[in-house]
Amino acid sequence: MDIHFVCHDCGKKHHPRSLLWRCPCGGLLDVDQFTISFPFDEIKKRPATMWRYREALPFVSDSTVWEALTLGEGYTPIVPLDSKSPNILLKVEYMMPTLSFKDRGVAVLVAKAKALGVTKVIADSSGNAGTSLSAYASRAGMKCDIYVPESTSPKKVLQISAHGATVHRIPGNREATAHAVIEAIESNQGFYASHVYNPFFYQGTKTYAFEIFEQLNGEMPDVLVFPVGNGSLLLGAYYGFQELLHGGMIVKIPRFIAVQAEGCAPIAQAFRTGKKTAEPVVNTGTAAEGIAIAAPARHRQILDAIYATGGFVITAPKEKMEPARRELASKGFYVEPTTAATYAGFLEYLAQAHNSTGNLPGFEPDAKVIIPLCGAGIKAN
Ligand SMILES: [Zn+2]
Repeated sequence: MDIHFVCHDCGKKHHPRSLLWRCPCGGLLDVDQFTISFPFDEIKKRPATMWRYREALPFVSDSTVWEALTLGEGYTPIVPLDSKSPNILLKVEYMMPTLSFKDRGVAVLVAKAKALGVTKVIADSSGNAGTSLSAYASRAGMKCDIYVPESTSPKKVLQISAHGATVHRIPGNREATAHAVIEAIESNQGFYASHVYNPFFYQGTKTYAFEIFEQLNGEMPDVLVFPVGNGSLLLGAYYGFQELLHGGMIVKIPRFIAVQAEGCAPIAQAFRTGKKTAEPVVNTGTAAEGIAIAAPARHRQILDAIYATGGFVITAPKEKMEPARRELASKGFYVEPTTAATYAGFLEYLAQAHNSTGNLPGFEPDAKVIIPLCGAGIKAN
């Protein structure tokens, strides 16, 4: 099995050996279709990590490159919000080696980079992808440069440095950081291990879908809530559910509710007017740094996935984020502000659905909902 990338715009195929981060035409790269399988009799005997689904990941069957790198990521618990809400389920994604869901994508991406002979990785991040990449790169024996906005939580910067990575703190917003890293890549300073552009990242986050299927014994939820900045969990999960659908294991993909932060919501703005593409916005400030992406590169794919599931985009109001964080903490879940925004967005959706005149797809009283808790509170200020 030889994996190829395919350009989303011109359809040209590229071997990952090319180390391209986008097509020469400027288009985004995706992983071209490859044969996958789900041998559940075997899967159920394996350790509780995302690698139990290895026949669905882009590695040849006898590859062991991931075994030297895994930190036991994945197979995070699904627990009810509280005893009064047995159908509101939380997937506790911060129970990961570096305390965020990003470990799913980074573990696959670093394993692929290692197999390609990469010795130095570079990435830009609002924090969590950087902390994850620095940990896995260090384990793989690679050098690592991480570019973060100057405003990034000092705890995340400390976590990145602890793994031996070089941290570049860039003045200005998240876009200035993205710009700085692309300059570094274009002057050949290393391999761009981007959780936005590198399509292997989404091969890792797709295991989120497989776990939900397996952990709920195939009793699929009605609604899935996702925080959306660059869409790295939403898109991966969408690909995972598509694979389950094509494999005949599920009959439909649950409705996706995407949450953006008030102050930086280009996807929400596009969705409100039924557009298939999002225009960049000006980030006017939000505590939800993990989803404060003014110009998400994969905006078309994110919107396609939301429309295809009969989904919706909601904006989490600024003043509701801190109360949402406290409410989750009162139930035992200490999360970072971006994750609080996800829960605040869900509550806002419920409030609007109950008040709406039928414009919002409402939840049935017994609808089963899954909300991911993507990042641990201890990482934030
Ligand atoms: Zn192209």
